[in-house]
Amino acid sequence: MTGHALACLVCGKQYEPEAVDYVCPDHGDDGVLDVIYDHERLAATVSRSTLHGESMWRYRPLLPVSATAAGPPLRIGWTPLLATPALRHEAGVAALWLKDETGQPTGSLKDRASAMAMVKAAEQRAAVVTTASTGNAAAALAGVAAAMGRPTVIFVPAAAPPAKIAQLLAYGATVLLVDGSYDDAVSLCLAAARRFGWYNRTTGFNPYMTEGKKTVAYEIAEQLGWRSPDVVVVPVGDGCILGAVHKGFTDLHALGWVDSIPRLIGVQAMGSNFLAEAWERGEDVLDKPAIDAVTVADSIAAGLPRDRLKAMRAVKNTDGAFVTVDDDSILEAIPAVASLSGVFLEPAAAAGWAGLLAARDRGHVAAGDRVVVLGTGNGLKDVPAAMRGARLAGREALRVGSDLEDIAEAMDATAARGGTSR
Ligand SMILES: *Cc1c(COP(=O)(O)O)cnc(C)c1O
Ligand SMILES: [Zn+2]
Repeated sequence: MTGHALACLVCGKQYEPEAVDYVCPDHGDDGVLDVIYDHERLAATVSRSTLHGESMWRYRPLLPVSATAAGPPLRIGWTPLLATPALRHEAGVAALWLKDETGQPTGSLKDRASAMAMVKAAEQRAAVVTTASTGNAAAALAGVAAAMGRPTVIFVPAAAPPAKIAQLLAYGATVLLVDGSYDDAVSLCLAAARRFGWYNRTTGFNPYMTEGKKTVAYEIAEQLGWRSPDVVVVPVGDGCILGAVHKGFTDLHALGWVDSIPRLIGVQAMGSNFLAEAWERGEDVLDKPAIDAVTVADSIAAGLPRDRLKAMRAVKNTDGAFVTVDDDSILEAIPAVASLSGVFLEPAAAAGWAGLLAARDRGHVAAGDRVVVLGTGNGLKDVPAAMRGARLAGREALRVGSDLEDIAEAMDATAARGGTSR
């Protein structure tokens, strides 16, 4: 086991991993824990040249797992970091990469955390693993658990996109549709897990989810030749990914493996802007009441972001920023990114691209910056949203008969609109 301790984000008190279940006993569900390491000791025993394997387990020595713990037999992580010239041109920055998580086994970055959850659940010999989720964390847990032959119980809002619910059912999860918001699903899941003794993966509650997700930052650094970008743009709901990206770069910096930590830009939907609003107003995120979160980007809808402490710290400590984008910009970003890069993103992920443009407008990102945008989830997760985005972008399929003259006409019409000519 890579040695680690847990520290409460509210009071700073440290615990041995065996001493607590999930959160600080003194601070309840607000007392989210940080997993902390002795970086000096790690630096003496681990080096960049000993990393091996093409998955997130490449970084096993920097993860809170044993040297022999078996993850699921799926390839999770080591996703492509795509240089995207057309997107770079559009954003007007010195360099731009899209970290493409769309090819993860269940189609989103959440696989990294769910794989970690299953390893920790196995350590505790838990019979059942549960989570609440807007959809992707659930799909990831159900998929990874299926690969390991383990049962899951999943709490999702009844309004989750059908593709995500279909994934859960296909993977064989017990699916509990909650008549309410994601925040309601979280409360119910926490209570049920306590009552029935299930291992709980829920984001911003289980401290190890950050540790799984931070591997995305390790990969970005390594794929850039152990040189940090200037900026990483992260779509934000609960704030776990944002906190995890911060954690990843902070670890590498403490180990002396990178020289700098990028500025982190958190992107929220206008209708789910808890963190952006708190940041702008200088509010304390522990006092700030939950908001009603309404956005087309279901994966970043969170009225009370569970990892708000880690997320706020990530932006403040890196001299970063939060920006918000409206639903139409999010939807339009889906066909924009797809046609300029070949990567098809779901709404929450496309929000990252819309957020980069907003951050550029607001001066948070400069022309000389080398920027990474996280492409957190696959566009096939929400086909109706992608269709709405295409319509907003003025793209439509043309109905034709079998007559080639029809096709000639259709091509001329397309050419007249600036599209492909015959
Ligand atoms: C979960 C998720 C996010 C947001 O991550 P948080 O940790 O909730 O902030 C962004 N995009 C996609 C595709 C997601 O599934
Ligand atoms: Zn505490």
